[in-house]
Amino acid sequence: MSVIVNCVMCKSLFAAKKSNAKYCANCNKKAKNMWNQNYKRNRRQKKSIQSVKPVKTLKELNDEARAAGMSYGMYIAKNNI
Ligand SMILES: [Zn+2]
Repeated sequence: MSVIVNCVMCKSLFAAKKSNAKYCANCNKKAKNMWNQNYKRNRRQKKSIQSVKPVKTLKELNDEARAAGMSYGMYIAKNNI
């Protein structure tokens, strides 16, 4: 059973197989491509943000703790690292 639906992208009427269809056959590919591009772009941005986050080694943390006049354990506990 098909339902006549207005396409969200091009505003034309089309016969949809599902009642919750948003796009006509022409726009469906475009919509999927746009969705995939946005998804990939967002994933790339999330990954780049994670990779920018500095990861300190145990030695660096220990050196910082000594410079602050604390033991390594005290420094970690105080800064919630
Ligand atoms: Zn359309």
